[in-house]
Amino acid sequence: MNTKSDSSRERRCQCCGMPLEDAITGKNKDGTLNEDYCRWCYADGTYTYNDMDELIDVCVKHMVNESFTEQQARAYMKQLLPTLDYWKR
Ligand SMILES: [Zn+2]
Repeated sequence: MNTKSDSSRERRCQCCGMPLEDAITGKNKDGTLNEDYCRWCYADGTYTYNDMDELIDVCVKHMVNESFTEQQARAYMKQLLPTLDYWKR
């Protein structure tokens, strides 16, 4: 198994867990892409979130719908975020 050059592997933002495509990938100060973060979590070389609860509040608002309650969304994020690199630091 070659995991290093497997480009089909799904990339996820290592801060919020959102699946990453080039269009929403974060950018460094010099304009190059930072393939570990989305543009909401990492913009122009700056990380947006320092606080997990703040990020959860923002994400949950976008995740809630008729089949996914705020409680479920919160529980999902609280499980997901600690597995991502940004929050392991
Ligand atoms: Zn993100």
